[in-house]
Amino acid sequence: MNYSKNTSSASANKLENFSQFKLDSRLMQGISTAGFEEPTPVQKKVIPMAITGSDLIVTAQTGTGKTAAFVLPILHKLLDRKPGTVSALIVTPTRELAAQIHRDIQELKGGTNVKSITIYGGVSAKPQIRALRSGLDIVIACPGRLLDLMNRGHVKLGKLDTLVLDEADRMLDMGFLPDIKRIIAKTPSHRKTMLFSATFPRQIETLAKKSLTKPQRVSIGMSKPAHTVDHALFPVPQHLKAKLLYRLLKDTNTESVLVFTRTKHRAKSLSAQIAKRGYSATSLHGNRSQRQRDTAIKGFRDGRFHIMVATDIAARGLDIDNISHVINYDIPGTPDDYIHRIGRTGRAKRSGDAFTFITKKDRKMVRKLENIIDSDIKRTTLDDFNYGTKNPYKNRRSGKGKSRKNKWNNKKKTRRGGKYKK
Ligand code: AMP
Repeated sequence: MNYSKNTSSASANKLENFSQFKLDSRLMQGISTAGFEEPTPVQKKVIPMAITGSDLIVTAQTGTGKTAAFVLPILHKLLDRKPGTVSALIVTPTRELAAQIHRDIQELKGGTNVKSITIYGGVSAKPQIRALRSGLDIVIACPGRLLDLMNRGHVKLGKLDTLVLDEADRMLDMGFLPDIKRIIAKTPSHRKTMLFSATFPRQIETLAKKSLTKPQRVSIGMSKPAHTVDHALFPVPQHLKAKLLYRLLKDTNTESVLVFTRTKHRAKSLSAQIAKRGYSATSLHGNRSQRQRDTAIKGFRDGRFHIMVATDIAARGLDIDNISHVINYDIPGTPDDYIHRIGRTGRAKRSGDAFTFITKKDRKMVRKLENIIDSDIKRTTLDDFNYGTKNPYKNRRSGKGKSRKNKWNNKKKTRRGGKYKK
């Protein structure tokens, strides 16, 4: 993951490692514009196989350069075909990931006139339908809206050459498996299929067996977090998390901070609280409309928002270069989510910090995280932070309940005592 990226513009002779793939010269121009100097491990393995047309099962995660690994062969093959018919379909779990892949295609396609579109719900279908009618080469889609438009006859896949199922395990987690099977059933059987997944639960193995023909397997190894990220755990009682966060924000030199919470509600309320303290903050979670989510991401990318509070929806596919800190306000639910969350910082050659707040209940997950980091993660406490502050709300509820009960009892007594009897 720690590969070189020349953010200005890589000179052509530095691209010699990409020239081994014998890609169309216009794509080499796109690679140069993207600033890539040498292929990443997943690209080295996948690109040649995909160009020859093998079906592929690839174990690789976001951050490995997997998008270019499937996009470049798709573009290369497309250039020999008649434009305007859907030759490639890329199915992804989230809108954010679809948008990211679309952006990567725009960059890598160089001077060619390849047309691609994203199809997902939460926005009007009309522009998508109009674009489909006008003739497209690549469709990048989330399963629900895609199936809807396919059923209504707007997406024609009769000429499909390549199908990519990206982050298949994530799609399974999100309940998309039945939709994916329906989508696959409507594609030509002679298509080439590439399946990307970080993990291979039984259902994904079964899907692969049924949908791929003599697939070759590529494994980039169990992913590890980028070396450019420093990890730290912050033990803290649940009720002091917000205070600790404010203190860290005040005392730490940060460029751009992505805070992760477990729930949508917490993402919303925490970002509002942070904003009240004078920071420019936004939130990204499933209760926000697509327009609000786009505005949040754009504002965060442009630097208009210094802090973004998000649920795991943001952990994958967000490709923003200048995130200096990822703060796990709530520990993630799986080690995989941890890798994805912290993968948002320390991208390319930059360095980043990953702070994770942990409570006593998180012991088990901490052990799992240390396993994937392959070492103990340092525990950090702040000298002048009062970890002993009592939770003012702790006994409030039971107190309330008691007084209500007493009130009721008292009332009953009064009633019995006289008023009504009298
Ligand atoms: P991905 O795993 O596709 O999400 O890619 C993660 C990041 O790596 C993105 O910012 C890509 O632009 C970048 N990237 C992909 N391939 C290369 C490469 N060969 N050299 C440098 N950066 C790359």
